[in-house]
Amino acid sequence: MESLNERAASNLSGGRVSGRCLCGAVELEIDFPAFWAWHDHSAASRRAHGAAYATYIGCRRKHARVVKGQRSIARFEDAMTESTRSFCSRCGAPLLYERKRSPHMVNIPRALFSGRTGREPRYHVAIEELQDWTYTGNRLVPLKGYPGIVWERPKSRRRPRDVDHVEFLGRRVPTARAYRPVKASACPRFDPNTVVSSPPGHADRIR
Ligand SMILES: [Zn+2]
Repeated sequence: MESLNERAASNLSGGRVSGRCLCGAVELEIDFPAFWAWHDHSAASRRAHGAAYATYIGCRRKHARVVKGQRSIARFEDAMTESTRSFCSRCGAPLLYERKRSPHMVNIPRALFSGRTGREPRYHVAIEELQDWTYTGNRLVPLKGYPGIVWERPKSRRRPRDVDHVEFLGRRVPTARAYRPVKASACPRFDPNTVVSSPPGHADRIR
């Protein structure tokens, strides 16, 4: 018995799916399914999207079209990467990313589509440029006093393990618990009244 997802995909196969920019002035359409989907960690795409990385669906040019708002599309020719980026001149949403090296393909931000595109983004380009501030799925917990916000606890604040030594590269090394605490008088004075109220972990995680 086919799953709901498989059934949904087969219903879309041979059909068309559409995406749109933030303001709705521009609407794009592709023939389902897309050719592939990928994450782009390169600096150019990071800046163009103002995000940690961009996720695109790649389509053959003949399988993608602008169905609304052609006149609202602005283009930026990036000589450095020999590519052209199109965006909505009204809301600024990225729309198309075309690379000279792949003239028959056009890339569209996956996020413009609210529904299925027929491809999972399993591929990564320029993964070596992954930024250390990118969220990569670490455990998140509710932030006390800030409803709706979850956060990643700094590792150093986790409870020390209940052992005094751990094996590290074949050597026994003491854990944090094995170190004697520093006397309070040896620490710089801490005055909570001078600290601007910000979520815990904010100041010590500046990157
Ligand atoms: Zn727009």
